[in-house]
Amino acid sequence: MRKTLCSAAFVKPLLASISCCFLALTSVSCSKTSQDGVEASSENTYTAEEKTKDWEEFSSKPAQTFIQECKSNYLKIRDFVGTLESETYSGNALLEALNTLEADIDKTIGKASLYANVHPEENVRAAADACEQHFVGLISDLSLSQSIYKQIAAIDMNTLPAKIDKRYVSNMLRDFKRSGVDLDEEKRKTVKQLKDEINQLGQAFYKNAREDVRSITVPKGYDLSGLPSDFIESRTNAETGEVTFTTTYPDYFPVMQYAHNDELRKNLYMKFRQRGYPASKEVLKQLLKKRHELATILGYPSYAHYATEVQMIKTPEKALAFINSIDKIAKDRAESEYNTLLAKLRETFPDATFVGDWQKTYLDELIKKEKFDVDSQEVREYFQYEKVKQGIFDLIQTMFNVEIRPWETETWHKSVSAYEVIDQGETIGHFYLDMHPRAGKYQHAAAFSIQGGIAGKQLPVSALVCNFPSGNALMEHTQVETFLHEFGHLIHGMFGGKNKWISHSGTRTERDFVEAPSQMLEEWVWNKETLRLFATNTSGETMPDALIDKLRASRDFGLGLFTRHQMFYAALSLNYYSKDPNKFDEQTLMEALQAKYSNFAYVDNTFFQYSFSHLFGYSAVYYSYMWSLVIADDMFSEFQKSGMLNQAVAQKYRQTVLAPGGSKDAGEMVEDFLGRPYSFDAFSKKFH
Ligand SMILES: [Zn+2]
Repeated sequence: MRKTLCSAAFVKPLLASISCCFLALTSVSCSKTSQDGVEASSENTYTAEEKTKDWEEFSSKPAQTFIQECKSNYLKIRDFVGTLESETYSGNALLEALNTLEADIDKTIGKASLYANVHPEENVRAAADACEQHFVGLISDLSLSQSIYKQIAAIDMNTLPAKIDKRYVSNMLRDFKRSGVDLDEEKRKTVKQLKDEINQLGQAFYKNAREDVRSITVPKGYDLSGLPSDFIESRTNAETGEVTFTTTYPDYFPVMQYAHNDELRKNLYMKFRQRGYPASKEVLKQLLKKRHELATILGYPSYAHYATEVQMIKTPEKALAFINSIDKIAKDRAESEYNTLLAKLRETFPDATFVGDWQKTYLDELIKKEKFDVDSQEVREYFQYEKVKQGIFDLIQTMFNVEIRPWETETWHKSVSAYEVIDQGETIGHFYLDMHPRAGKYQHAAAFSIQGGIAGKQLPVSALVCNFPSGNALMEHTQVETFLHEFGHLIHGMFGGKNKWISHSGTRTERDFVEAPSQMLEEWVWNKETLRLFATNTSGETMPDALIDKLRASRDFGLGLFTRHQMFYAALSLNYYSKDPNKFDEQTLMEALQAKYSNFAYVDNTFFQYSFSHLFGYSAVYYSYMWSLVIADDMFSEFQKSGMLNQAVAQKYRQTVLAPGGSKDAGEMVEDFLGRPYSFDAFSKKFH
């Protein structure tokens, strides 16, 4: 079975476009600081008191410097907003002024988001976080500025010279409307209050899931076979000999994967799927109710309609049809994989009639070991960090005919390196690599946009933040895959950095598309031709073909089951938000959807939905991960046809898909690249 998508899928899409423009922030694509999460001022003008309130005091010099710079930018930007609201500009000058405003906000918030996550000094991280919060408030004010909205609405579309200008204006108007700017005063007040409540409920929902750590304790002598001895030892009470396992990932996943004892796995599984219950029972109900109410006031039949409107998929009906199509594609393969698991289970329990959800990971591991026998130690020999990094650089340089070279600049930590991307002698972007763990640093993998590019005005700047071993240390194959994934976001930012409007820059595209370029690039780590570029051991030997074949076969096993189970999650996310929350029971609906979409039956006395944090962050659009993958597979088929390193295809891909950023609908860009509308064919093939 594949690893859970939760951690990876959660952080990657949100952070890929973390520093988006102010109006993009009112859309779901930037939900780390979504519109639901902001305090809004009821005034459209800004008083002197507001300008100075709530700036926290920081004791360290670097933090003081940071917050002063942030504050100074904030005040300048507020003044600029005041000027805009006094209707100083019109027509094209207004658009240029808005673009500058968005770019200024983007720059400060981009740096603040990054520093809040990676700065080595805790004080600076706190200052950066405070800075970001102030800007989130500012963005909220802006999204409700009737004065600015009216000025934009007064622009005569016929006077705009290009399609991209019309798109810029119409998307701004759409996002203003989505924030409730054109409602009457009373309704605007309600909208603001609802958003505030939704944010609080969301935070409570996250907190309940995060802080609800449960455990089981087994007596001395209990059967713990299959688990590594150091793993058991570190969880053993020295006095009593009892062993305790918690529901945190470092405990939970090894137990589910390796413990032979079925009872142990089932007990821990149940604890895991009880997290957040009952604390979040009412919280989730209220969250769904408030969002439904918000959507209704804004003129949508449901929150799912509101959330899908700005996606490639456009409507909940299409999202549901998508989920059902994927389910159909995966069904036969899932059935056959399920039977393989059941046969394996019967070797231990001859009377077993079904495979439990708590058994799948363990059985999957056993089967993979027998069938494919991939020795992860052997695989790691080929992935030394420095070589991998150079290999990925070589790959991008070869495919896209660009040069990546060191960039002399200051960084926030000595382990961080900086580079510039050169295209035909011209610098087109800068990026940082912050790739190794250290105390206090963000613990997952993400691509941060520090500054979006604008044609003729500013270059894009991005940072990859990962936690890989350094220097000569060896990486896991999955880490190399993650490296490529994040690099996919990075080049999207670099190659999409020459758009006229910053809200069209790089990864500022539909949220259900933004993972497609990054998921596609992952494929290069599964290909023999491209692996030769960076998979060599200390003797300089490339990875043997037989080993690559085994890796690939091992990757493919469980695809059907995994995909269907993901559709259960996607259906849950969509259904909760497309129905009237007064008319269904969360538990009953969850159980029904699990029965419909997953091969694994619901386990009594579990309440998965209360720890499914994506119900807040993704709201209705959890389908988007799989949607991006379908598009990624379709685009990848062009490379499969013509060669993974084919420059002509890579250039076409760059020009048609990456360079336009958000200046076109993603569907149109994909069609430009493929020469036909996107299809499910490439994705479907994997299931045969
Ligand atoms: Zn991603």
